[in-house]
Amino acid sequence: MGFRLASIDGRAVLIDGEHWHDLAAVSFGEFSGDPMEAIARHAELHALSDAVPGRDPDGAVVDAVFGAPVPRPRNSLAIGLNYKAHVVEADMELPKNPLVFTKFPSCIVGPTADVELRSETGDYEAELVVVVGDGGRDIAAESAWDHIAGMTIGQDISDRRLQFAAKPPHFDLGKSRDTYGPIGPVLVSTDLIDDPTNLTVTCSINGEERQNGNTSQLIFDVPTLIAYISSILTIEPGDVIFTGTPEGVGAVQGTYLVPGDEIVTTITGLGQMVNRCV
Ligand code: ZN
Repeated sequence: MGFRLASIDGRAVLIDGEHWHDLAAVSFGEFSGDPMEAIARHAELHALSDAVPGRDPDGAVVDAVFGAPVPRPRNSLAIGLNYKAHVVEADMELPKNPLVFTKFPSCIVGPTADVELRSETGDYEAELVVVVGDGGRDIAAESAWDHIAGMTIGQDISDRRLQFAAKPPHFDLGKSRDTYGPIGPVLVSTDLIDDPTNLTVTCSINGEERQNGNTSQLIFDVPTLIAYISSILTIEPGDVIFTGTPEGVGAVQGTYLVPGDEIVTTITGLGQMVNRCV
């Protein structure tokens, strides 16, 4: 059986329907409760999830405040210009190789965290985030999915002015202000996703849908990204990859985020994130 891993107060929990179960308790102390350890031992979470329906839950999902399911990734990578319609709207050239940049791990926050705007040019980008389960180097595209523990939702919040404040542009800084990397609510194991190449990705601002794409439209699909990135650096358990955003970002329409905006991000089978701008 697959697993749904989340984090509450920094502790790893398994989700079963409307309830959550403390991983350290479920495993009788075999797991410390650190979500990063849980991801590194993701293969064991399948059997532990089988045991969950038989025990009394530790709490209700509706009452829980989830943190980032991957709170401290060693590396946090992101892909720019990975949906053709977004490349067109951004008036950029189609990339010949994946455009990879860093969202510094310090920007990662949870699925209900406030986004602390620090300029007038904050923007949203709904994205599928894949989480490495088994690390490695020079991983072939054919075996890439075997190295992924699961998937979650991400927002690649971007400060457009800062992103293009230098030439060539420094994407990493413009996308790494504190709180600019909400992920969650749950890390869903890949075996629970029918078809990761056909997931609808949406973003709404204050109830108005701004983005509606599908992972079938990725220019460089997930196996290609894993093969490319691991040909350059060793990937490790808990590394996260934001896979790019579909069209409809605010910069193109001149509608940047302002305090009070509510960002709702959804992906088929992965749930939704709700983040408020302050
Ligand atoms: Zn992005």
